[in-house]
Amino acid sequence: MPAVTDYITKNRQRYVDELFELLRMPTVSADSTKKQELIRCAEHLVRHFAAIGLTAKLVKTPGHPIVYAEWLGRPGAPTVLYYGHYDVQPADPLELWKTPPFEPTIKGGNVYARGSSDDKGQFFLHVKAAEAHFKAGDGPPVNIKFIIEGEEEAAADNLEKYIADNTKLLACDHIIVSDTAQFDQGCPSICYGLRGIVYMEIIVTGPNRDLHSGEFGGTVANPANVLGRMISRLHDDNGRVQIDGFYNDVVELSTAEKAEFARLPFDPEKYRKSLDLPQLFGEKGYTDLERVWARPTCDVNGIYGGYMGEGGKTIIPAKAGAKISMRLVPDQDPETIERQFIAYIKKITPPSVRVEIITHGKARPVVVPTDSPALTKAREALRKAYGTEAVLMRGGGSIPVVETFKRELGVPAVLLGFGLPDDALHSPNEKMSLEQFHRGILTSAYLMELLAE
Ligand SMILES: [Zn+2]
Repeated sequence: MPAVTDYITKNRQRYVDELFELLRMPTVSADSTKKQELIRCAEHLVRHFAAIGLTAKLVKTPGHPIVYAEWLGRPGAPTVLYYGHYDVQPADPLELWKTPPFEPTIKGGNVYARGSSDDKGQFFLHVKAAEAHFKAGDGPPVNIKFIIEGEEEAAADNLEKYIADNTKLLACDHIIVSDTAQFDQGCPSICYGLRGIVYMEIIVTGPNRDLHSGEFGGTVANPANVLGRMISRLHDDNGRVQIDGFYNDVVELSTAEKAEFARLPFDPEKYRKSLDLPQLFGEKGYTDLERVWARPTCDVNGIYGGYMGEGGKTIIPAKAGAKISMRLVPDQDPETIERQFIAYIKKITPPSVRVEIITHGKARPVVVPTDSPALTKAREALRKAYGTEAVLMRGGGSIPVVETFKRELGVPAVLLGFGLPDDALHSPNEKMSLEQFHRGILTSAYLMELLAE
């Protein structure tokens, strides 16, 4: 190992330069005009894997390509599968970026660029750990497989199909996913649970055109007014979701888990200030960490309808709509929640309008065992690289592939994230701490050793 850690230290600058190369590629999967950029990035990764010593290929899908790479030079040793994604969120609103999103810039020990933390900086650190084992030794002590997709941010199902069709190729003993954040700077952690999601849209339609609000006002239901009333009925005043049956399958936290959460160094006041809020708000009877990690939610993501231009325009809009996401926790089932949502919306729609309900996406919540050998060893690797004990946490977001891996390959993933809570994922000025990047490489190199034992 000393030769490997030495190599990692000596190559810090080149590792960063190579990360920059990836970050300069505007791989926005939601933007159809960037299709060639995604192909270019996938081809770049294939060449990069091959140069290090893995066998790599580009897998075409109906959407953006998947990159698969493997090295199976340790017969008898365990096989570790690493997952990541090379696509990124759109960069807009561009005017809020202090430096160009696809021109990585270092400031205060962070690299600012779209995709730096989500997820290029995170999956790439495992690639660099593998490289160190190849160049400073005789290869990684475990067999390794990488699957890097290009549609994580686009909610496509091509990866799910690829995994289901290639369970033999992807067979492994352990799965490492680095696409989450640690609890805090200086507080390394492993995430053992994620929320699921159901994403819906409701469209309320009234008259066959926008109407003069003076000539018609008072005789027709205004779809925007109706929509507002409907949204207000999604929660009670205490923040509890009112959809019938919504909480039926929610598993309450155990006393031990609540105690674990309470032990974490979470400061609600600091959290409030970081968000510039006059007050925090959430479902009564739970702490903030319990709310964000172990309680389901229902949130309006966007509302549209009527006149939104400059000045006034006196109309009753013909329609109004809202996009609504629900974050789910074990054992809520996305199909059941979708059905309950539709039934509730139909129930509260007044007879004076029509309503259309669309489902945009669904993912299951997941909790992995906290005593698996891989998770225990990942904790040890973090301790070696950071010099401090790693804590266990959950995440409020969703990574659907974790549930797919569990179902198709029978292996629970270890969510070994190296992001930080203030990385501004999906927001302007996304960043990755270079310290986290370098310690991540070290952690990954140690973990390969530990998993081989
Ligand atoms: Zn991500």
